[in-house]
Amino acid sequence: MLNPNPKPEMVTFLERRINPIFNSLLKGKYRLGLIQKAFLENDKLIRGKYPVPGKFINSDKTSLELFNQDIQMPLRCRVEKGQPTILVLVGDWLAIFNKLKASIPPKAESVFESMLAIALNHEFDHFALGTIPQDDHIDTPTEAFESERTTWPRTCERTLKPFIEIYKKQLSDNDMGYHNAWMACGRNAESEEWRSFIAEAYGIEL
Ligand SMILES: [Zn+2]
Repeated sequence: MLNPNPKPEMVTFLERRINPIFNSLLKGKYRLGLIQKAFLENDKLIRGKYPVPGKFINSDKTSLELFNQDIQMPLRCRVEKGQPTILVLVGDWLAIFNKLKASIPPKAESVFESMLAIALNHEFDHFALGTIPQDDHIDTPTEAFESERTTWPRTCERTLKPFIEIYKKQLSDNDMGYHNAWMACGRNAESEEWRSFIAEAYGIEL
């Protein structure tokens, strides 16, 4: 376990802000139908692909503490002995929430909730496509680039587009950045524009 003695504020934050969104998706009760549909389609593919049901691990550390990197994606996924595993960096989510509350107070909760659903759908897109490191394997920069280049289109089409075009939600700058780049490149994962955007987003030199 990463956090045998989680900080009380992290536990409260996890229970009040993160778990309700994840649980509603996992239980098929998320209120935006197309987002729920994208999630459940992935869930079905994942169950057919991996022998062991998935699990979540919570850490109240931040990605800076764990990976020596700035906050980028506060969920990390991998497959361990056939089991899809998602690491939830609660410390990162709390930092993001506080930042939103300071910058866009009236919209902070709604933007944050959308971020959680988008992040979880994105990780499930990785599992569904199999673009995911297994066991002790650590992706090379080229592998990480290819995995994000081919997975974000699925997230853009099935999650970000409905959030923006159907449900008219305000999203975080980061999520909007993916949507805008995807639309601007003509929704073409092979395009130079898309390749450059993903390389820059993940700090990978091509
Ligand atoms: Zn990803």
